[in-house]
Amino acid sequence: MIQSRVALASVLLAALALWACSKGPSFVAKHEPWRADEERACLASGLVRENAFVAARAALGGPSACGALRPFTVTAAAQGWVQLRPAALLRCPMVPAVEQWVQKVVTPAARYYLGSPVVELKVAASYSCRAMNHVNGARLSEHGHANAIDISAFLLANGQLVTVKVGWHGAFAERNFLRAVHRGACSVFTTVLGPNYDANHRDHFHLDLARHGNNGAICK
Ligand SMILES: [Zn+2]
Repeated sequence: MIQSRVALASVLLAALALWACSKGPSFVAKHEPWRADEERACLASGLVRENAFVAARAALGGPSACGALRPFTVTAAAQGWVQLRPAALLRCPMVPAVEQWVQKVVTPAARYYLGSPVVELKVAASYSCRAMNHVNGARLSEHGHANAIDISAFLLANGQLVTVKVGWHGAFAERNFLRAVHRGACSVFTTVLGPNYDANHRDHFHLDLARHGNNGAICK
């Protein structure tokens, strides 16, 4: 009986380790081998190539659950037409996802609803070794794997700034634009959270490539 409990406890410990960042709050992280496998496959595919706006960086993290093998600093999408400010630090699969969202969703939606192209995305967060929603002891956020990006505003070529916080309940055109880029993100990312999800997301869109089991995707 005691032996089985010890065995159970060690299995649980192996599966669920408590990691602490050097400064941030503690969080719970699962052992998830798919992450490194997926990242290696992405790197080997050549899908992400370095250019003037995408630069490879040394491995992030270290002996903790946070980090990425070979993350990229992304300063712009769409061949430099759409700046990311500040630059985003993302793992390999996120780079083409952001690119696809910007080119196929954000750019056409801005032209259609607002009559001006987007020239800059305001990046509220990308890599960050922390618990979900900054709650001490919660699960490690996808941000901790450089597998997420938060976007808080869109700057248009005509100077108009559309923020999620104001625009979500703002003028008709801004509301339509923000709902279109939110809805369109759901066909690119596996998690899309916005102001309708909870108060933590009232001022930004959270986009990530988490695996939710089965064919699950979260679009709220
Ligand atoms: Zn986020």
